[in-house]
Amino acid sequence: MDSKIENVVIVGGGTAGWITAALMVKVLGKSINITLVESDKIGIIGVGEATIPPIIPFNNALGIDEKAFLKATKGTLKLGIEFENWKQQGDKYMHAFGGIGKNFPFCDFYHFWVKSQQLGYGSEFGDFSLNYQASKASKFAKLSHIEGTNLPGIEYAYHFDAGLYAKFLRDFSEKLGVTRVEGIVENVEVDKNNGYVTRLQLEGDRSVCGDLFVDCTGLKALLIEQTLSTGFDDWSHWLPCDRAMAVACESVKPIVPYTRSIAHDAGWRWRIPLQHRTGNGVVYSSKHMSDEQAKDLLLSSLDGEQIGEPRTIPFKTGRRRKQWNKNVVAIGLSSGFFEPLESTNIHLIQTAATRLLKFFPHLGIKDEEVQEFNRQSQIESERMRDFIILHYKQTQRDDSDFWRACQRMDVPDTLTQKMALFEQSGKIFREQDELFTEIAWQQVMIGQGLIPKDHHPLVDSLSSEQITDLMDNLKTLVQRTVNKMPMHEDFLSQQ
Ligand code: FAD
Repeated sequence: MDSKIENVVIVGGGTAGWITAALMVKVLGKSINITLVESDKIGIIGVGEATIPPIIPFNNALGIDEKAFLKATKGTLKLGIEFENWKQQGDKYMHAFGGIGKNFPFCDFYHFWVKSQQLGYGSEFGDFSLNYQASKASKFAKLSHIEGTNLPGIEYAYHFDAGLYAKFLRDFSEKLGVTRVEGIVENVEVDKNNGYVTRLQLEGDRSVCGDLFVDCTGLKALLIEQTLSTGFDDWSHWLPCDRAMAVACESVKPIVPYTRSIAHDAGWRWRIPLQHRTGNGVVYSSKHMSDEQAKDLLLSSLDGEQIGEPRTIPFKTGRRRKQWNKNVVAIGLSSGFFEPLESTNIHLIQTAATRLLKFFPHLGIKDEEVQEFNRQSQIESERMRDFIILHYKQTQRDDSDFWRACQRMDVPDTLTQKMALFEQSGKIFREQDELFTEIAWQQVMIGQGLIPKDHHPLVDSLSSEQITDLMDNLKTLVQRTVNKMPMHEDFLSQQ
């Protein structure tokens, strides 16, 4: 289509709709008209409270002040996710953000850690993570590096109230010129010649026209699927959970700076600390757990007074075959869902909105651009998918049908190869712009019990004593730094 793109219509005002609106108006607000249609009667999904570190540069790009943001969204800081009972019952590890130990040229720190284990040095990999140790002490400080060294400091993200986040971004976007239209879209009109969406028919005999439509209608996928029948790659044979039940409860002290992910017989449950409450949810496979059982588990594991009634959210894991089809780009749950284990979905909204701006088709939509956009988003989501599957596949749990099925399942070849390479040689490589770094993969692989049989030869150039000294020194540096950090709650109260 060669006509200019001047009117963009975003359908949906959940996290996806308002993130897209905020970025688009910030970058292109002077050149295009942006309308967002949403319905308070339908509401938003409202879960999605944990994020990952790229949200910091994203907020910075929007010019968002962190203090104002944390206040408005009742946010807390997040240093990582602690996984309990995943490798086996009673076991714990953390996927902490940031660096671990000290990396050497050609050789990451964990090769030295693997050798130290062979020498009988009894430390956990996480003992060398500043983020993990700060998490366990409920501490937080903004530190770019460990004082007096060039070792990495604290890397963080946020937990926040998803409803307040959408509201915050709505205020931001409306001030910069986004027009919000309240109303339910009842019908979508399509040009018979080229299949492009042209007009949304709203309740009350109103309509909204546009050149480019962004489908942020959540799991409904009103434009991308209900209208354009784009198709869906179902990943539920790899990601077996298909339901969640969520409820809030009153906060308990101290407010910890990390997410908890606790595996149970048929999935896992989360605990996300906010300033004013704790978010709780059970994620489960409906083949292995009934709603009643999930409710019992959820309510019996609250550590504060329950707030409101539990809400059940059915979902299907997978992704839309094309994130961009005709003149519709799907962003948010309309484009697919992995399940929330590694808090990747808000991040995917941000990368999709960023990608759309990079590819913005101001002179008209070109097939080549659409194909490249779709290729990049496919690679991005498949790499993330593999990382999440790893948590289920690499388990030693065999105490329930669910976990036995996870151990037995075939996984994508890309993941099989990564696991085999790591197990044989300790080698792992981040692919292109893949989100998760080598350190993230190492933590989850080791945490789930996949210990490499070999290490890099550089390690053998150090004597046993030198390796022990290295480990002692690094551990001391981490602990000394944590000891000096303020409590997370004190940091929050100063915001
Ligand atoms: P929604 O919030 O559902 O918004 C859809 C919008 O479309 C609403 O405004 C609705 O009014 C509008 N709409 C729909 N139909 C119509 C219509 N016909 N007319 C007009 N308007 C319409 N992500 C994370 O990053 N971290 C997490 O910790 C996390 N946890 C999650 C836990 C669960 C159980 C689930 C299910 C998801 C989680 N996610 C998480 C994902 C996250 O919730 C979503 O990615 C995010 O909220 C985006 O949702 P959305 O905006 O796409 O959809």
